[in-house]
Amino acid sequence: MIKFYKKYLAIALVFCMVFCAFAEDLVCKTKNGSLFIDYSASTHPGDIISIKLTAKKETRSANALCKVSDAKASIVRVGNTKSPASGDCYALKSRSDTYLCLLPIDSMLKPGEFNLKVSGKFDGVDFSKEYPVSILDKDFLSETIELNASNTAIKTNTSEKRMAQIDKLNKILFSADKDAQYAAGTFKPPVTSTRRTAFYGDRRVYAYSNGKSSTSVHYGHDYGVPTGTVVSACADGKVVMAEDRISTGWSVVIEHMPGLYSLYYHMSKLEVEVGQSVKQGERLGLSGATGLATGPHLHWEVRLLGVAVDPDFFVANKLY
Ligand SMILES: [Zn+2]
Repeated sequence: MIKFYKKYLAIALVFCMVFCAFAEDLVCKTKNGSLFIDYSASTHPGDIISIKLTAKKETRSANALCKVSDAKASIVRVGNTKSPASGDCYALKSRSDTYLCLLPIDSMLKPGEFNLKVSGKFDGVDFSKEYPVSILDKDFLSETIELNASNTAIKTNTSEKRMAQIDKLNKILFSADKDAQYAAGTFKPPVTSTRRTAFYGDRRVYAYSNGKSSTSVHYGHDYGVPTGTVVSACADGKVVMAEDRISTGWSVVIEHMPGLYSLYYHMSKLEVEVGQSVKQGERLGLSGATGLATGPHLHWEVRLLGVAVDPDFFVANKLY
């Protein structure tokens, strides 16, 4: 008798391991099919919330389109109305039944309980659902960076040229082309060294040579590598910027997915040009100390819908 129960217990356990781990929530059901959601129910400031919508057709409706359109996602703090993160869902080119929306969580966002709102149309029917999401606590470092006269001049430069450079970069980083889908899987750090001299989300005070100061948040990870170190692409993508900038020196920006970019600053030599497709691990150039730098290093940054997010998140987690 005990043997009999053990057998059923084992079957139930295997069933749960296979199905429960991939539990999905039903968002919408029509006569032709169902739409399911998969999302991150908790995350940290600086990480992202990934929302995946999957359409499943009824066998008898093989010819139905079962498309998702105008789908959006946003988070709103419980008891609040303003949304600190929102974005559009787009159809994945690599999987015709799947729609993706990646929401950036700013490193400055106060942890707490939020509602994830997902809405749109499935198979011609409107849907709108809410799911609970927790933003958990995360500690960031604080540091003071002493700037000499030339670095102070760069940081306080308000010339037309520098402002135009900032505008140009922001225009790129805040744009999301739904067809720009190049990367999948996880990212690879751009250098082989693991020596870091500053981290994503560091709360910084810049102490100027004139006695004044300003505060800011460090948007990427700094690798303390000697000038001339090979820098490679963290994931497949397209080069959308490769030029010398006042504050960031020789810089490369790569587009990986709609609204998702990686940035490489302070390089001494660039070996790619705008419009070029790059594969993960492909050489972009050599590291250096150009622009605002207190020594040779590579600044590696990731932006999603304009918001700087932690590059390590993409090394540890698959994009979808
Ligand atoms: Zn940096």
